[in-house]
Amino acid sequence: MTAGEVLAGEEAPPGDAVVVLGGEMIGVEVAAYLAQRGKIVSITRRGEKLAENMGRTMRRVFLDYLRENGAGIHTGVTYRKITGEGLLILDEEGREVLLPADLIVIAAGLVPEESAERVVEGAGLEVFRVGDCSKPRNIRWAVHEGFEAGFEI
Ligand SMILES: Cc1cc2nc3c(=O)[nH]c(=O)nc-3n(C[C@H](O)[C@H](O)[C@H](O)COP(=O)(O)OP(=O)(O)OC[C@H]3O[C@@H](n4cnc5c(N)ncnc54)[C@H](O)[C@@H]3O)c2cc1C
Repeated sequence: MTAGEVLAGEEAPPGDAVVVLGGEMIGVEVAAYLAQRGKIVSITRRGEKLAENMGRTMRRVFLDYLRENGAGIHTGVTYRKITGEGLLILDEEGREVLLPADLIVIAAGLVPEESAERVVEGAGLEVFRVGDCSKPRNIRWAVHEGFEAGFEI
């Protein structure tokens, strides 16, 4: 499942053990959501620190919450493969570790959605790319770039 599908669902997904693959803002948010619903959560990130794209205060709140609720935090990992048992990684020291999972939530690899731009292609219209269709980030960028584009018109 993707993080968006989990957060859009009316109920928490089935299964006890969940691994969230991707430890930026979205991964941390979905991990906290799942921990709050009683799941045994592990979160993984290739980089050294979780949620570097989050504001400092919210980052602190979310990371404290994850730690206090016993989430497994795995940074600096290398992804090996998804197996029937869970997610196989190399940890920071290069050791192979299997993170058991009933469910793996993908919270990484967002790419811009460009279908809307293709609709107007060739119509001779000026096109401004703002927000996630320029580069997936957060709502502040979408609002800011939308404001700037509105100003240009
Ligand atoms: C799971 C998740 C959690 C997030 N949590 C946070 C958070 O806590 N704080 C934060 O700041 N940001 C968060 N973000 C990021 C934030 O949601 C986005 O950065 C923001 O929504 C980008 O706004 P946007 O208007 O560019 O794109 P969107 O909000 O994606 O809006 C684009 C709209 O265009 C529509 N669309 C696309 N193609 C077409 C087409 N061809 N025709 C018609 N309509 C089309 C889409 O359906 C959508 O409604 C999160 C993102 C995800 C996925």
